[in-house]
Amino acid sequence: MAERVIITMACSVCKNRNYYFDRGKKQEGKLALKKFCKNCGKRTEHKETK
Ligand SMILES: [Zn+2]
Repeated sequence: MAERVIITMACSVCKNRNYYFDRGKKQEGKLALKKFCKNCGKRTEHKETK
């Protein structure tokens, strides 16, 4: 049985939720990725949020 976990990546600057991922397995720790934020108009760090 596959457990589906949807995670949301939010900009750490403006808190805008820009990216969604469908993660099959639970991982330890929180993800932090450099992604382009449309709201900020530049690449910022995005952190996992719920
Ligand atoms: Zn932003």
